[in-house]
Amino acid sequence: MSDAVSPQLASPHPTSRIGRRQVLGAAALGAAALAGAVAGAGKASATTSVAPASVTERRERAVVVGTGFGGGVTALRLAQAGVSTLVLERGLRWRTGPNATTFCRFATMDNRSAWLTDHAVVGGVDKTWTPYTGVLEAVTGNGMTAMCGAAVGGGSIMYHGMTLQPAKADFATSIPVAADLYDDLNLWAYPTVARMLGISTIPYDILATDPYKSSRLFQDVAPKAGLTPFKVPLPIDWSYVRGELTGQYEATYTTSDIAFGVNNGGKHSIDVTYLAQAESTGLVEVAPLHVVRDLAMDANKRWVLSVDRIDTGGAVQEQIRITADAVFLNAGSPGTTRLLVKSRAKGLVPDLPDAIGTGWGNNGDRIWAWINPTGDAGTRQGGPACVGGRAPDSAIPLTVIHAGSPIQQAGVTALTVVGFGIVDGAGTWAYDADTDDAVLTWPTGADAALQELIAARMQAIAAAGGGMMIDTNAGAPSTWHSLGGVPMGDAVDLTGRVLGHKGLYVLDGARIPGSTGACNPSMTIAALAEHSMRTVVRQDLGRVF
Ligand SMILES: Cc1cc2nc3c(=O)[nH]c(=O)nc-3n(C[C@H](O)[C@H](O)[C@H](O)COP(=O)(O)OP(=O)(O)OC[C@H]3O[C@@H](n4cnc5c(N)ncnc54)[C@H](O)[C@@H]3O)c2cc1C
Repeated sequence: MSDAVSPQLASPHPTSRIGRRQVLGAAALGAAALAGAVAGAGKASATTSVAPASVTERRERAVVVGTGFGGGVTALRLAQAGVSTLVLERGLRWRTGPNATTFCRFATMDNRSAWLTDHAVVGGVDKTWTPYTGVLEAVTGNGMTAMCGAAVGGGSIMYHGMTLQPAKADFATSIPVAADLYDDLNLWAYPTVARMLGISTIPYDILATDPYKSSRLFQDVAPKAGLTPFKVPLPIDWSYVRGELTGQYEATYTTSDIAFGVNNGGKHSIDVTYLAQAESTGLVEVAPLHVVRDLAMDANKRWVLSVDRIDTGGAVQEQIRITADAVFLNAGSPGTTRLLVKSRAKGLVPDLPDAIGTGWGNNGDRIWAWINPTGDAGTRQGGPACVGGRAPDSAIPLTVIHAGSPIQQAGVTALTVVGFGIVDGAGTWAYDADTDDAVLTWPTGADAALQELIAARMQAIAAAGGGMMIDTNAGAPSTWHSLGGVPMGDAVDLTGRVLGHKGLYVLDGARIPGSTGACNPSMTIAALAEHSMRTVVRQDLGRVF
């Protein structure tokens, strides 16, 4: 997605004047494209097959687990420091290019959309299939479902690419423990990420084309709802969008059919930026379809990873035991937290901090569907999500963004409008011995104060622009911005070092407690990783590993 959404329309707004079936058809499928809300997201199927009798042993200096924003930055900076590095990723490597058919389309969704489940993980879509190592996992918790990426490139493969840097004050409110880092981040780390990902906003001539009518409509209405409109920085080569507009390429950006990846390419995702540069040094090996099951510490205080190499159906092909001097956990907020909660509960690593499994938050995400606005939204909605609005007077900082929907239904216009903002990391993860996994609990109403403010903004948009707003998450809260679980200050230091444990690092979204200053998280995750890796290379290289 984008950051987007899926309206699984739990309950139409009470003032609805259009039929429920009509709304479900358009909004649930339309808006849903972006995001993923998750209906009926069950547990992912466990990997199957009899484990091979022998275990392959490997010895490494540095291992990175996960290839998203944290993992990509870590791999590149280790390689540039001359460190031979093994990068483990559970998902597949997906190659794109003009008119490629790499990723599934929203309308013909198939098992490439979901991580090892026999059913769709997008709300409102009732499809089953043979499990496959698809791009999106729905991690079902108590009171919240966390959507996350499963691919080489992590969440950058299916995200819209909204790349926002928080204001200093909002960063400090959201992540007070790291407030003193902001000036440094602003000076060089955020700009480094922006350069690496080649971010830019939508050119005016593209915004002026027919597929972007819904974006222009949002821009027109936003100020009337008290929002300050802005163009969203995106990691996009716009020549690909131009190619679609001239008919050279099949539509994917211009219909927002990007929820499971961008077939045409032109997206500067982590696999083709940070990871590609890391691999070009010759020092980095990226190993897809390698699932880390457990992390332990041996008698010599070296790190030991139990890894399954799987096939695309999830069957274990090889078991690998990797011993390493340094392990950099970048499996994303759910992935890293699950590994560390398991390690502690099973006694695989002694004296892990009590704070592991705390400080989790949803970044305040909420997906709304704007049904039948008065203005002309066009017959297709171009993406990625390129326009948004900030609420300068809001008691809790929040941002609202319009993301296109790939499915249009005659007679109903449904625009996805996403809101997010600052929340506390009130969520916790606990070990479940039956499944040998950690389970998330999000207290009911933990983000209620923010959601009231987001709801008021959404209603203001409908009041100004006509139609009505539906909170698609009302009955089934979900987030695509999982943050926390291994919080800075309590579980790791500001450089991501796990407290009390040399050579074990957390550099992904797991270390950010709850939210990223009313912005989508990817840029802050990457900038913090840049900042930490500079310190790791200066202080720990040659001493710790
Ligand atoms: C649909 C969607 C849309 C989004 N849109 C936006 C957006 O527009 N802008 C934005 O800023 N953010 C967006 N996000 C959020 C963003 O993608 C995440 O915040 C970001 O990717 C997190 O980075 P990370 O490094 O923490 O982990 P991730 O990018 O999630 O990477 C973690 C990687 O670790 C792998 N992994 C997990 N467990 C294991 C294991 N046990 N063994 C091996 N590998 C493992 C995963 O497969 C994954 O590739 C979106 C997310 C989703 C799901």
